[in-house]
Amino acid sequence: MQSASGWQKRFADRGKAVAKADGGARYEVLAIRYGTRLTSKRDVFLHFDQYGEPDGTLRMDYFFWVARNGRRTIVIDCGFNEGSGARRGRTMLCPPPAALQRIGIAPADVDLLVVTHAHYDHAGNIGAFPSARVVMSAREYEFWTGEIASRPLFASVAEGDDIAALRRVAAAGRMSFVYGAAGRSRYSRQPIADGIDVVEVGGHTPGQLVVLVDTEHGPVVLASDALHYYEQLTLDRPFTHVTDLPATYAALQYLRDLQAGGAQVVAGHDPLVAEQYPALAGHEGATRIGPTTQGRQP
Ligand SMILES: [Zn+2]
Repeated sequence: MQSASGWQKRFADRGKAVAKADGGARYEVLAIRYGTRLTSKRDVFLHFDQYGEPDGTLRMDYFFWVARNGRRTIVIDCGFNEGSGARRGRTMLCPPPAALQRIGIAPADVDLLVVTHAHYDHAGNIGAFPSARVVMSAREYEFWTGEIASRPLFASVAEGDDIAALRRVAAAGRMSFVYGAAGRSRYSRQPIADGIDVVEVGGHTPGQLVVLVDTEHGPVVLASDALHYYEQLTLDRPFTHVTDLPATYAALQYLRDLQAGGAQVVAGHDPLVAEQYPALAGHEGATRIGPTTQGRQP
C-alpha cells in the first residue's frame, strides 16, 4: 500500500488534472431508492431504551447515489445484492445495476465508484463496475480485510464476497485510497473529481466517508451512513451500528455545521428523501436532490 503522504500528493495531483478536464461543471445529484424494510426505533437507535420513549415502527429505505453532468457520471455506493438482501429479509425494489440502466447509465461504463463504507448494503455490487476506479477509505479497507472484522457484530453487517470483490479491485490497481483523520473534528476534504470531495468521518464504520458535491442548487452532502435519519441531527441520536461513538457524535455535528452553512444534507436511509425530493421525470425510484416538493429541506 502506498504511503499516506505519497498517496495524498498523487491523489491531489489527480484531482487537479480532473478539475482541468471537467472545466468546473456542476452536477445533477440523484438518490436512487432500491430497497426497503420495516423496522423499529429500538432496532435503529443505539441504546434506545435510554431515551425513555415508547418504541415505534420505522421504515428504512435503501439508497445509492449518482452525481452526473454532461461529462462525467460518478456512482456513490452500489447497494446490496439479491442474495445479501434476501438473507436479511430486505425487500429489493430494483437491483442497483438495473436501476442504473433504467436511468441510462451502463454500470460497466462507469469510471468512478465511491464506496462510502463496506457494509453489505453499500458494497454489494462491486463486480457490476469492472471499469471503475473505486474510491474508499484506506482505514475502512484495512479494517474489513483484517482480523477483527470477522467478529460477530461486525461480520453480521458485511459480506465476505463483497470484501473479496474489494480485494480484487485493489489487486487490479483500480483502488484509490483516501487517507483521512476519521473524525474528531479533524476533517479534511479530498478532491476525487472537479466539484466532488470526500471526507472521512468514521464513527459508523472505521472509515465512513461523506461526499460533498457542487450543484446548481448549492452544495449537496451525501451523508451515507454518517446519518441514517434526519431526526438524528435534531435529537443527536447515534445509529445502532457504531465503531467509534465519539466520532459518530462528531460526524453528526459536522453535518449540522454543513447544513447551517447552507448545504443540503442527504440522509442515507430516511424515507423523507424519496418523499420530499421530486422524482426524476419518468423514473419513480430516482429522486433529484435540489428544491424539495415541500419548499424546505427535510
Ligand atoms: Zn447503510
